[in-house]
Amino acid sequence: MLAKRYTGKKLVDNIFATSKKAKQAIVKFGKENVINATIGSLYDEDEKLAVYDVVESVYRNLPPEDLYAYATNVIGEDDYLEEVIKALLFEDYKEKLKGLYIASVATTGGTGAISNTIKNYMDTGDKVLLPNWMWGTYKNIAIENGGQIETYQLFDKNGDFNFEDFKDKVLELAKTQKNIVIIINEPSHNPTGFRMTYEEWVKVIEFIETIKDNNLIIIRDVAYFEYDNRNEKENRKIRELVIGLPKNILVIYAFSLSKALSIYGMRIGAQIAVSSDEKVIQEFKDANAFSCRTTWSNVPKGGMKLFATIMKNPELKAKFIKEKQTYIALLSERAKIFLTEAKEENLEILPYKSGFFITVPIGETVDKVIEDLESKNIFVIKFDTGIRIGICSVPKKKIKGLAKKIKESIEKF
Ligand code: PLP
Repeated sequence: MLAKRYTGKKLVDNIFATSKKAKQAIVKFGKENVINATIGSLYDEDEKLAVYDVVESVYRNLPPEDLYAYATNVIGEDDYLEEVIKALLFEDYKEKLKGLYIASVATTGGTGAISNTIKNYMDTGDKVLLPNWMWGTYKNIAIENGGQIETYQLFDKNGDFNFEDFKDKVLELAKTQKNIVIIINEPSHNPTGFRMTYEEWVKVIEFIETIKDNNLIIIRDVAYFEYDNRNEKENRKIRELVIGLPKNILVIYAFSLSKALSIYGMRIGAQIAVSSDEKVIQEFKDANAFSCRTTWSNVPKGGMKLFATIMKNPELKAKFIKEKQTYIALLSERAKIFLTEAKEENLEILPYKSGFFITVPIGETVDKVIEDLESKNIFVIKFDTGIRIGICSVPKKKIKGLAKKIKESIEKF
């Protein structure tokens, strides 16, 4: 009975399915006997969802009007729209990015930001360019909107950004489609924790600037950027790369408050568009407001007010940053345990720099390895031919020894 364009769709969400298995094992064998590395949310050392004190206190003290009323505008609260730009670009962005046109639209999480963007910029039948290691939902969003995907190898043989393959794939797509939508998910890439260097970014930007006859829409999926420890100087230099971009390049940041404030279920995010063409930004606002209104209408006002209240108040913002630093430190301690032990065990892992996840490449035997690990009550997520370990949700005591157990399972097959 489905409309013709929607037949054959079936959501196979590996993440939710495996997570369910892990939860069943916990009920059967007890929490202490199960390693649930499937979750993509930050959990503390007691395996409870990480909740920021500052988020709790600000949210619970918002006036009822802010919690229960519709948002003021379809595209979001004015102060929220301003604060997300400041958070992702620069506090003084109006000065710093003079001559550029910038606009933001509130969305239902980072997912809403990515789907709004693909919906509005990918032509039917076209391909979205993605790395081979990627968050699978990108592909489904392209399919949902009548498109397909093309992939490039994310890593070269040294484990650096595979610029050559990226370039070849962009040039290939440029021959057959006018608009090229490219998603770059970094820093703290899901599923590997990869981060590009400033030099790698410069190479990408210099190359795309040579493309004159196509429109390039670069989605910078920065879902996990708050948990990255790249130094601030390099961060600013990368952000400055939007200055001077030609009019055929549109950069759209996909921002997720799910991760930034650890408020996954609240469904708040944003698209932040930057262009040197005023008309492109006006069109962005018009088209995306239309998409918001016709899909989710507007996003919860309380979540937007929560973010704006914290960011506008220096004391609350300082509290947030302080709490966030403790979580960054926790993630890096967990990563250190796993990476050190992986080295001792000679267990190969994909280049990890920061963030929630570490991936072990396995190859053809990946399903058997996963089955074997599950028989030992260790639950991980399959990504392509690798397994993703969500260090964001596993306490240090359970990470100890995990690399060895994975190595043993791999060696069985
Ligand atoms: N981008 C990446 C890489 C993700 O892993 C996720 C969520 O897991 C998202 C975007 C979207 O998250 P949300 O819609 O909860 O903001």
